[in-house]
Amino acid sequence: MNSVYIEITNVCNLHCSFCPCGTTAGNESAADNPSISANRAFMDSKLFETCIAGAQEIGATNVYFHVLGEPTLHPGFAHYVKKLEQTPLKLTLTTNGTTIERTGHQIFASPAVRQVNFSTHAYAELPRETAERYLQNVLDFCSLAIVERPDLYINLRLWNIGAKEASPWNSYMLKRIHETFGVDVTPGHFCSRHKSFNITGRLYLHEDTRFEWPSLDESSSTNSTGSSTGSLTLSHPEHSIDRCDVEESNSKIVVGTCRALDTHVAILHDGRVVACCLDHSGQITLGHIGKQSLSEILESPLASNIREGFAQHELRHPFCQTCTFRKRFK
Ligand code: SF4
Ligand code: SF4
Repeated sequence: MNSVYIEITNVCNLHCSFCPCGTTAGNESAADNPSISANRAFMDSKLFETCIAGAQEIGATNVYFHVLGEPTLHPGFAHYVKKLEQTPLKLTLTTNGTTIERTGHQIFASPAVRQVNFSTHAYAELPRETAERYLQNVLDFCSLAIVERPDLYINLRLWNIGAKEASPWNSYMLKRIHETFGVDVTPGHFCSRHKSFNITGRLYLHEDTRFEWPSLDESSSTNSTGSSTGSLTLSHPEHSIDRCDVEESNSKIVVGTCRALDTHVAILHDGRVVACCLDHSGQITLGHIGKQSLSEILESPLASNIREGFAQHELRHPFCQTCTFRKRFK
């Protein structure tokens, strides 16, 4: 097990159309929808410490601070990064970069931060002036990092290749990269086997297509005859399927595999342990980190069954059967 995703918050300040974070709470206020906003929260310090103890217990070396949400919005972000410094764990921070002017110095100052991924594809949906300002802040951070933290890996992510509406923004990004670092990154070079382009030092442009979030709602709302299957429609985050009987979900075995529960696992902001960083609503809840140790949870019958299925190229959980993200790593 290399990595644990710890969702220190599921709050975000952007409302990306392609993200469940952006299309649910982000577009609704507490007054509009108390049930949704009640699910937006910051992980408390005690739970965070339990999570990093669990990560060390299972031998992980790397943590992320997200599943959904923008981690730098957590009021304890700097404190949590400091906590990592007392452990062997390293942080790969995935951020939308909107707070980098304020948090950049905390990131530079911490040897626990090994890598920063900037989700610059999120800017394609913002008003141009705002987007350009955020990008400038990110590029300033990168320029400084090259001098002050040459050991830091940085990815400028453009995970929107092929999305027509994102084209003008992507072209602008490439122009600004050229102007800032004197390097031409040609988008024509992008292909499924070539997604990462070195800009300079440890700074990279990472391109990819958009991915679909797996969803039990979509896959189960109708079956092949067009009638409702009913049994797998789970729209509430508290509802999860706590078994993965192939017969229950589908009459035939669904072929596929995934590295989840082998190389990584995720913990939601409220302590629920889920199989991967795509399960933002706890559809595969394996246990609760506040009630059981992470190693016990990973050895539970459900986790073992799913992992054994992956090893045998069977997607045993209905949620995994709806997932296309796993195919990106073939
Ligand atoms: S910035 Fe990231 S977490 Fe926030 S809405 Fe966009 S994709 Fe989701
Ligand atoms: S198959 Fe998809 S949903 Fe299932 S554990 Fe892997 S990444 Fe997560």
